[in-house]
Amino acid sequence: MMFTAENQSDYPVVGDVVTISETGPGQAQIQAIMPRKTLLRRKAAGKDAVQPIAANIDVAFIVQAVDRDFNLNRFERYLTIVSKGKIEPIIVLNKIDLISRAELEDKVAQIKGRFQNIKVLTASAEDSSGIKGLAKAIKMGKVYCFLGSSGVGKSSIINKLLGRELLKTRMISTSTKKGKHATTHRELFVLDNGGMVIDNPGIREVGLGDASEAVANVFGHISKLAKHCKFVDCTHDHEPGCAVLAALESGDLSRDKYLNYVKLKKESDYYAMTDLEKRQKDKSFGRMVKNVMKHKKKKQ
Ligand code: GDP
Ligand code: ZN
Repeated sequence: MMFTAENQSDYPVVGDVVTISETGPGQAQIQAIMPRKTLLRRKAAGKDAVQPIAANIDVAFIVQAVDRDFNLNRFERYLTIVSKGKIEPIIVLNKIDLISRAELEDKVAQIKGRFQNIKVLTASAEDSSGIKGLAKAIKMGKVYCFLGSSGVGKSSIINKLLGRELLKTRMISTSTKKGKHATTHRELFVLDNGGMVIDNPGIREVGLGDASEAVANVFGHISKLAKHCKFVDCTHDHEPGCAVLAALESGDLSRDKYLNYVKLKKESDYYAMTDLEKRQKDKSFGRMVKNVMKHKKKKQ
């Protein structure tokens, strides 16, 4: 298999179903990878190929904490990655114990307003509220993963679902260097109901290679204006009721900044949805992001 592999996608990843031939006691050789139903992959900056991360995941829980982490653009980024891999998304808002019911309702409404037809669940791994609802969403024989920034509570939620502290949470890993829990390396967990959770650092970090967040950060001003556009999917190019174009007109937004944004945004959208045929564009985009960052630093 190694001899016939043409690129990284030809190698097995976690979640793959493979055929093997036994070569000795406890030893086997992978002969072939069965066709993948879904494929979670990332596009790392500067690299010219898509990197497969995990195969055959049915549903991805996209997790954010309701506190500082809450960010609709980030949800969008993960949703793009997930839909590109043909994986079904479910949005999870965690740490709801930290906010009031009214605040939570507002956040859920924001999500539903921006992303139609996507299931939204709320949870607290702290007081276990919503964990039953999450467990209910997990079906026998299906494969799940948890995506989201570090610290949003993915390990805590998975531990709750397992009913055991199999995954180290951050507090434990920082207070005691080793962590008091068994740290057997495992990437696939089977829940009591027969649903499976796949988890490893590569899966967790799948969103990091993308640049739309960089776009949002670099052009914070425009992102803020964009919230007032008439259409949620406004490209700020020609749409009526576009707040960005209005600011451009009034001089509130400089022409340079705007043009830069449009360019970077275009590249970023491409970047999030890239495929092998478009690999050439990537290098120049990486360079551009770096440049923009550099300019931003100079200005501060
Ligand atoms: P991960 O990096 O996404 O796996 O996050 P962890 O599961 O390690 O959690 C990060 C921190 O958030 C830990 O200190 C958890 O105890 C805490 N945490 C996780 N879930 C909740 C929650 O629902 N409410 C509150 N208040 N804290 C939580
Ligand atoms: Zn607009």
